[in-house]
Amino acid sequence: MKRIENMERSNNEITNIDTVEKIDILGMDLESLQRKFVEIRLKKFNASQVFDWLHNKLVFNFDEFSNISKKDREILKEKFYVEKLEFKTHQVSEDGDTEKFLFELKDKRLIESVLISHKNRHTLCVSSQIGCLIGCDFCATATMTYERNLSISEILLQYYYVQKHLLQRGEKLGNVVYMGMGEPFLNYDAVLGSINMLNSPKGQNFSKRNFTISTSGIVNGIKRFTENENQINLAISLHSVKDDVRNEIMPINKRWGVKQLKESLLEYQKQTKNRITFEYILINDLNCEPEDARELAGFLNSFSCLVNLIPYNPVGGKPYKTPSKQKQREFYKLLKDKNVNVTLRETKGQDIAAACGQLKAKKEMNTSQSII
Ligand code: SAH
Ligand code: SF4
Repeated sequence: MKRIENMERSNNEITNIDTVEKIDILGMDLESLQRKFVEIRLKKFNASQVFDWLHNKLVFNFDEFSNISKKDREILKEKFYVEKLEFKTHQVSEDGDTEKFLFELKDKRLIESVLISHKNRHTLCVSSQIGCLIGCDFCATATMTYERNLSISEILLQYYYVQKHLLQRGEKLGNVVYMGMGEPFLNYDAVLGSINMLNSPKGQNFSKRNFTISTSGIVNGIKRFTENENQINLAISLHSVKDDVRNEIMPINKRWGVKQLKESLLEYQKQTKNRITFEYILINDLNCEPEDARELAGFLNSFSCLVNLIPYNPVGGKPYKTPSKQKQREFYKLLKDKNVNVTLRETKGQDIAAACGQLKAKKEMNTSQSII
């Protein structure tokens, strides 16, 4: 766990070699941008115009900022840089409902974002880290080397890229979930920073209610979140309410066990009154017997919540199996009969390996297929 805390501290210490002196402009909120503009003798109101180009109009080339004088645009180029995500691969599932985007960062590392569409409702699943330190045994991201936290800009750009992609066909994003690669609460500041930027009335003005952060159970993160946020949705990757099973598949449980997790969530609900979403992957012979359903229902009894049952999405080289459809439905029904608010997810986009980390893992094996 020491390792995790150290990594948390090293957040955002990565600096681009090409831009050592320059400031990452996309990561600055309006107030910081205004302060900086005054400091470098640019007009404060120009900061609002620049913010509008970047975060509302989604134009990232200083030369296109037509209401900023040429001279001031040169100052911008000298003092700031705009972070980049280079689009690499795009894959669309057969039913067209799931699209995966693979991006390359300035240090050549790869991240992915997944767009899940249901009728005209679009949900973007963003990554918060390159790799993940938690090491859940069933997860594709965990098989990669952990590299670093993403910055506010790198998180924002996933949204901006996909938003522009949707705007081209007259549609736009409806929800953003932090369920891609990485553990969001180990990159707390950048994750919350990106949400605050997207929420900015002068930017995308995207309601906090439309964000969901998913955590494997970082209890100190949940406590901080409880103290500071009451609009953003919280999802917990539960997968079992038994310490021995959770310890086996989710090493984080050895740091914060089921009891501590439950206490932190009760406090969260007491303070915020928000409904909690629990994610529960169904893995054959591990966590989906009738007894598991009964114990899960008992655990959930204390909460106002929704449980998403997610059939395990197979990851190459892992011993886990997806239970039969019948077993999935039985588990679902047992919870339903106990008045649990539960949904059974279809595994979306399995043909394009939509579980987190899988596109990148495939790309690294050089087998990914480019669609556009
Ligand atoms: N690190 C955070 C968010 C990213 S993972 C977390 O763990 O909550 C997003 C979700 O995908 C988690 O609920 C995770 O348990 C689930 N997941 C990971 N691998 C999966 C797989 N192979 N099949 C189904 N769900 C998976
Ligand atoms: Fe990390 Fe989440 Fe994958 Fe666990 S499931 S390894 S916490 S990304």
